[in-house]
Amino acid sequence: MQNNTMVACPTCGQKSPWSQDNKNRPFCSERCKLIDLGEWASESYSIPQQNSEEDEIFSEDLVANPNKSFL
Ligand SMILES: [Zn+2]
Repeated sequence: MQNNTMVACPTCGQKSPWSQDNKNRPFCSERCKLIDLGEWASESYSIPQQNSEEDEIFSEDLVANPNKSFL
């Protein structure tokens, strides 16, 4: 069993050993890990919302109410 698997750091692309000692894996260093986490946080990650049906019902309600009061 080989224990020297190399992984490419997602931040800088440098190959680093995938081992128990490498706490920052798959990153080559803590710095690269923090950089990646920072970029992830700074990017406005829009999490797809699953409550689109609720929004539709809500907007339908908004449209229906003026009609009711109008009639
Ligand atoms: Zn790196």
